[in-house]
Amino acid sequence: MTFATLGLIEPLLRALETLGYQTPTPVQAQAIPAVLAGRDLMAAAQTGTGKTAGFAVPLLQLLTMEGPKVAANSARALILCPTRELAEQVHASVAEYAQNLPLTTYAVYGGVSINPQMMKLRKGVDILVATPGRLIDLFRQNALKLNQLQTLVLDEADRMLDLGFSEELANIYRMLPKKRQTLLFSATFSDEIRTLAGQMLNDPLSIEVSPRNVAANTVKQWVVPVDKKRKPELFVHLMRKGRWKQVLVFAKTRNGVDALVDKLQGLGINADGIHGDKPQATRQRALDRFKSSEVQILVATDVAARGLDIEDLPLVINFDLPIVAEDYIHRIGRTGRAGNTGEAISLVCADEVNMLSAIEMLTRQTLTRHMEQDFEPEHRVPDTDASGQVVKKPKKPKKPKTSGGGGKRNLGKWVDSGEVAPSEPSIKPVRKVPVFNTGPRKKK
Ligand code: AMP
Repeated sequence: MTFATLGLIEPLLRALETLGYQTPTPVQAQAIPAVLAGRDLMAAAQTGTGKTAGFAVPLLQLLTMEGPKVAANSARALILCPTRELAEQVHASVAEYAQNLPLTTYAVYGGVSINPQMMKLRKGVDILVATPGRLIDLFRQNALKLNQLQTLVLDEADRMLDLGFSEELANIYRMLPKKRQTLLFSATFSDEIRTLAGQMLNDPLSIEVSPRNVAANTVKQWVVPVDKKRKPELFVHLMRKGRWKQVLVFAKTRNGVDALVDKLQGLGINADGIHGDKPQATRQRALDRFKSSEVQILVATDVAARGLDIEDLPLVINFDLPIVAEDYIHRIGRTGRAGNTGEAISLVCADEVNMLSAIEMLTRQTLTRHMEQDFEPEHRVPDTDASGQVVKKPKKPKKPKTSGGGGKRNLGKWVDSGEVAPSEPSIKPVRKVPVFNTGPRKKK
């Protein structure tokens, strides 16, 4: 299948070719014809599936081929996103897809001054990407009217609800024209999402795309519990013990990347880092050197690593767990490709238990835990399982410290996290973690 067979117009085909998109991804193959036919969509698709082009490309075609010119202070299509970062990212993609079309695009979000946004909206924009709170502010200040709206896209609808936007969505719903096309994308489909979909969608077509590598049983995955402060030491220990040759390491933050690279380089280990603060050329150079084995360890943030074209790796290390559970799947998808076996090891500290739980729930498996001798954590990582439960054991009275870490259980033994000592019966679930919450939403 090609993009041309999906019925796309020439300026869009040219843009996709420029971007190097050769074949439609499964979500695009299903979404593009449905959106072009004017259907509402309810799509279960995560980041990394190509969902943005799945809705944006046919939307651009419809806006080019049909409908009136955009009026002042109006938008013809609205894409709602949970975060400012996603709004920026989606807007950048939309602008790339629209590069050969006479359409205008713009992104608005909170945390920055509203005045330039109001000015920009005066002439109207064909496609507006927005976070819910700022959209409502602009609407209330009469900077934006929605009576010309043809299409509404709810991107990452589950995250919007997780971040507490349900009231805003209900308000926006009341501002929308009744006759419109609505496309809803969500990684998960909770009852709340289904209720939202029932309200907002009209006879939607359901699309489901299984996330890449969820069932990648060619990747051997396990977790090593450790105290946060000892992670660098554990990393070096495991690296030496396992004689790691080429490793992609994920850290949560840019500072985290820099700190680990400094530490490794200080020990004479051939390491480099990539993150969003580094210029593209520097990132590319680090990547090229990693690919040609000049650099042994490449440490990256999720954002910098997204879209990295690395063929197949034997080993991926999660130095920190990702904030968004789906990123775990993208990370481990770098190894075990094309039937090769791979390993993905996560160094997990007690603070990360909710992230671990969200990952296990998403991948529908309980990750095996391996206690590394002499690195057993003082701050225990509570048990987790694929149901999303985090189980806390009652605190035992502290034993006086003995030197050399003697007397501890499970030394060097493979322990399945589901394995629970029978002498500890009062384990009770304390919290259900449906999808890892990225923290409280900033006040707008
Ligand atoms: P998304 O799931 O929309 O965030 O897209 C994930 C990544 O895949 C982005 O870097 C896109 O540029 C890229 N992408 C989307 N569709 C295709 C395609 N058909 N061929 C190649 N890359 C694609």
